[in-house]
Amino acid sequence: MLDGELKGLLAVLDESPVGISISRRADGLVLYANRRFSDLIGVALGEIVGRPAHRFFVDEAQRLRLVEHLGRKGRIDNVAVPFRRSDGSTLWAMLSIHGARFGDEDVNVAWIFDISERRQTERRLRLLSAAVEQAPVTVMVTDTDGRIEYVNRAFSEVSGYGVAEAIGQTPRLLNSGLMSPKVFRDLWKSITAGSNWQGELCNRKKDGALFWEHATVSPIKDDSGSIAHYLAVKEDITLRKDYESRLEHQANHDQLTGLPNRVLAMDRLGQAIATAHRSGKVVVVMVVILDGIGKVNDSLGFKAGDAAVVTFSQRVRLAMRKSDTLARLSGNEFLIIIGDIEAPAMAEVFAHRILDDCRQSVTIEGRDVFLSARIGMTAYPGDGTDPLVLIRNAHAATSRTEEGKRNSFRFFTPKLDEEAQARLKIESSLRGAVERQEMAVYYQPIVAAGSRRLIGAEALLRWTHPELGAVGPDRFIPVAEASDLIIPLSDWVLRRACVDACRWRRALGQFKLAVNFSPRQFRNIDLVEKILETLEDSGLPKECLEVEVTERLLMGSHNNAKIILDTIRSFDISLSIDDFGTGYSSLGYLQNFRFDTLKIDRSFVKEVGGPASSRPLAGAIIEMARALSMEVVAEGVETEEQERVLADLGCHLMQGYLFGRPMPVADFDALVAATGVG
Ligand code: C2E
Ligand code: CA
Ligand code: CA
Repeated sequence: MLDGELKGLLAVLDESPVGISISRRADGLVLYANRRFSDLIGVALGEIVGRPAHRFFVDEAQRLRLVEHLGRKGRIDNVAVPFRRSDGSTLWAMLSIHGARFGDEDVNVAWIFDISERRQTERRLRLLSAAVEQAPVTVMVTDTDGRIEYVNRAFSEVSGYGVAEAIGQTPRLLNSGLMSPKVFRDLWKSITAGSNWQGELCNRKKDGALFWEHATVSPIKDDSGSIAHYLAVKEDITLRKDYESRLEHQANHDQLTGLPNRVLAMDRLGQAIATAHRSGKVVVVMVVILDGIGKVNDSLGFKAGDAAVVTFSQRVRLAMRKSDTLARLSGNEFLIIIGDIEAPAMAEVFAHRILDDCRQSVTIEGRDVFLSARIGMTAYPGDGTDPLVLIRNAHAATSRTEEGKRNSFRFFTPKLDEEAQARLKIESSLRGAVERQEMAVYYQPIVAAGSRRLIGAEALLRWTHPELGAVGPDRFIPVAEASDLIIPLSDWVLRRACVDACRWRRALGQFKLAVNFSPRQFRNIDLVEKILETLEDSGLPKECLEVEVTERLLMGSHNNAKIILDTIRSFDISLSIDDFGTGYSSLGYLQNFRFDTLKIDRSFVKEVGGPASSRPLAGAIIEMARALSMEVVAEGVETEEQERVLADLGCHLMQGYLFGRPMPVADFDALVAATGVG
């Protein structure tokens, strides 16, 4: 080769983007290196040529492996190798070495190609993907159809779905079904339009548990600017949500008792008022002041006082309907909101229950502690329409109560209060009235129309109050029904009446005894057993008793009633529907509940014999009863004309002043004696 040509060739090699060196295989000394080689290694050519190349290697172990490989295979292809540059930095290069002959010597020709930048990019990518993979947030990449292409580890940890389970699915995998479809519509609208979407999603894990995520979903564009993927970055915020709801709970509830506090109570009262406004019903607001806590604090310490408050609030809560609100206003002040009732007086039952509960002692640290409560009551809409005003009025009403006095509740409105106090007075004197022999059972004859033959009697309760004199059942039965007093009272009436009727049946051969029963008695299935026991004790045959109930019982939500009525009837005791045609009559009742007798209310009887217009009504009732194979008794028959018209209409049993007023047992004994057998 000509010298000039060689020089030209070497000059070209110097410009090559690849560093080239040639070293002698025998001793490893470099025979030639191009300028690119020296530039890459950062060492002057003069210090490369004539010296061994191995000092440029960083990794000695790698170098030995390469030497060994070269010895065996005669070449090395594309191995990434770090080289030490003279300034101490590292050059990452792709190294290839091929064995060759150079003149008459065996040489190794080496090419090095700078890959530092590529390596750095790769490193950055690796770092990035490790970062994404290990990020504490969930990362998901989908294609434009929403198919999942990538999820990171946090996704699996949070959702419970493995990577393989998620890839190829859509994010609907996590759908809880609890989010409004509008949320997803908005999300897709944003991201398909090229903008980010942020929001909170309630999702479901593989195990079914719900969790909350804060999500940012962004479109990812390719080089041409069109959307190629979607990226969702989501943070599990379930704990934060829990915390928030705990905070909210704390802000709205009393710490000690967990009851709603004043803030929430006001809110609930507002809602109750709005509901009552729509339904035309009444809301009663009670302020309950718990007395005696101070004493507990003084004698047993504050912890004991707190425990007493908690016990009290739990008892009151149990005495209330679920839909009503019990709140703690302050230390010993509670608020009760009773909604959805027809009249303020109906809330008295709850006041009674609370006061009854208060009479029971509370056991604190092994000691029996007695508390007492005073209740002030006020009603929407009568006493006000504003929550604050109502609470203030209820408060004002508590000041009428006397501390420590049992049964202490007062209404804000003077008229309501008067009536309530009158009922209270009746209630307290009703207790023990039987024992004090103030009660009597009167009997009113039931006769056959026309012949006026004595068929039986209705038992009617009479009370002679030591001060008030005769108190009618219409006044005291509702009061007794509001407390549990009705139960012993009814038991007593039934027992007396059965004993008396047994005597009359013996005298007359047969006798029908009608006894009134209150809805309250039908809460407990024991009623049937009690009736059977009473019948047996008295000796009155079962078929002689007729149980009178009103439509009120059938209306009530106590489903026990039907079971109990059916059971009673299964023992051959007859059932009679009283005051038929008043109130809530529904033919449906008559079909669902099988009655033997229907009593036409006095109001219909009264019209019979008057203007002809109302006759058809009584007639229709009688007709219907006949169609259902029921006996009919007309109540409150006072005139012969009523008797005649009703008999013409097909009613054959009658009760009323025309045939006899309710009378004491001795008078009825005399009546029976006068009637004689047959
Ligand atoms: P009720 O069951 O409808 O009883 C009939 C009522 O009509 C009785 O009133 C009776 O005295 C009255 N009455 C009877 N014939 C005539 C009449 O010709 N003209 C008029 N104007 N009235 C007549 P009383 O005895 O005052 O009883 C009122 C209500 O008290 C009863 O209505 C009944 O619902 C209830 N009641 C009475 N005793 C008891 C009882 O022992 N237990 C229960 N749960 N309720 C009772
Ligand atoms: Ca009756
Ligand atoms: Ca009646």
